[in-house]
Amino acid sequence: MSCHIAKLGEDVLRLEAKKVEDIKSQKTQTIIKEMLRCLKKSSGVGLAAPQIFHSCQILIISSHPNERYPHAPYMEDEIIINPIIIETSKQKEKGWEGCLSIPGIRAQVPRHTKIKVKYTNINNEEKIEVFEDFIARVFQHEYDHLKGLVYLDRVEDMKDIITEEIYFKTID
Ligand code: ZN
Repeated sequence: MSCHIAKLGEDVLRLEAKKVEDIKSQKTQTIIKEMLRCLKKSSGVGLAAPQIFHSCQILIISSHPNERYPHAPYMEDEIIINPIIIETSKQKEKGWEGCLSIPGIRAQVPRHTKIKVKYTNINNEEKIEVFEDFIARVFQHEYDHLKGLVYLDRVEDMKDIITEEIYFKTID
């Protein structure tokens, strides 16, 4: 089965995603399974439900080195439901991001270097976690998808946008 990712221009990427009411429901479980499958197929390090046409508050962080992100740190896949960012560092840092919904380009995006978040995990437990650096960046990127934002909305200078072809030739 192929994996259909919503591309920039699709309305679903600009909606505010709805809260998940029942984590154990068949529907929610199916969306999560589909998200995991799409992540594996596409060498992403994160995915938000709206990217596969489900406007609900689920994101997955799946950080490990792959062909699109060779320097990503290892982290166990984390399924994050109804997240809230409760604290952010004052400090922001620019770093390169790409997005499965915006193929072919990369851009430098300012993000908080440290965030404290609250969410429900796959076992229906409430979690409070602190994420830093790369993982904090992925989290903020995916969290934006739940608000109807994409990373290009956060770019400060249009010159910070480049093609993926040049990115892999010169930056990486
Ligand atoms: Zn994205």
